[in-house]
Amino acid sequence: MRILLVEDDYMIGEAVSVALKDAAYAVDWVKDGETAGSTLEYGEHEVVLLDLGLPKRDGLEVLRRLRRAGNKIPVIVITARDGVEDRIAGLDSGADDYLVKPFDINELLARLRAVVRRQGGQAAPILTNGRVSLDPATHKATCGDRIVILSAREFALLHALMLRPGRIFARAELEEHIYGWNEEVESNAVDFLIYSVRKKLGAETIKNVRGAGWMVENLS
Ligand code: CA
Repeated sequence: MRILLVEDDYMIGEAVSVALKDAAYAVDWVKDGETAGSTLEYGEHEVVLLDLGLPKRDGLEVLRRLRRAGNKIPVIVITARDGVEDRIAGLDSGADDYLVKPFDINELLARLRAVVRRQGGQAAPILTNGRVSLDPATHKATCGDRIVILSAREFALLHALMLRPGRIFARAELEEHIYGWNEEVESNAVDFLIYSVRKKLGAETIKNVRGAGWMVENLS
């Protein structure tokens, strides 16, 4: 899951970005509103964490432009503006959630999971497909009654596939979901992750579609 973090405060940005990476998200961090706007035009990201007080373009303006352009990406506002009016303005400008600084990083992660599953049209916190289920809060996967611990990257891979069962992902798309801008990606990294997830959960968990990519079959 690829996240765009928009935050000009270095300390907060660093703390959030480390915590997100630890939680297996791929994070790209930009520090002003203008760069945020141009970055989002590429549609590489799946969720935005948006500060409001930003250089060059205010966060609310970034949000308004995004929605005016028809972009439906989930946005969680993270800001020190804690007035009721500010929160109303944020939500009415198209934010999906609003978190006031200072916030507990675990609360941010929980809100992120909630926004992501709502976006996937799902209310249940655990993803289930056939015999395999995946808990985004703990990164535990189960296959039948076997419980399997996945590494951060293995989780990121399986999560991307299980959020959209039946959809085929090309290698480049999977890399986009798993790695941020400044992370080196070995050419066989995705193959290796697929190999290790299959080894843990069974070869049938991830299906190869020759010449096209990989998918999780829609069994639910
Ligand atoms: Ca700020």
